[in-house]
Amino acid sequence: MTQPKSPGCIRFFCRNCAKIIENPEQKKDTYVYLCPDCKEDQVTFGTEKSIKHFFHLK
Ligand SMILES: [Zn+2]
Repeated sequence: MTQPKSPGCIRFFCRNCAKIIENPEQKKDTYVYLCPDCKEDQVTFGTEKSIKHFFHLK
């Protein structure tokens, strides 16, 4: 099994739920993502490393 050499995989984070989410819905024809749990568009994304750093996750 090989590991990709990217700095980290992309994660989605819901600011409303304050947690990392999987498989957010993308609004049609936009770069806006909807949280599958709360259905809000408070979803940001970045590398796992940057998100954990930014939101001070463990
Ligand atoms: Zn949410």
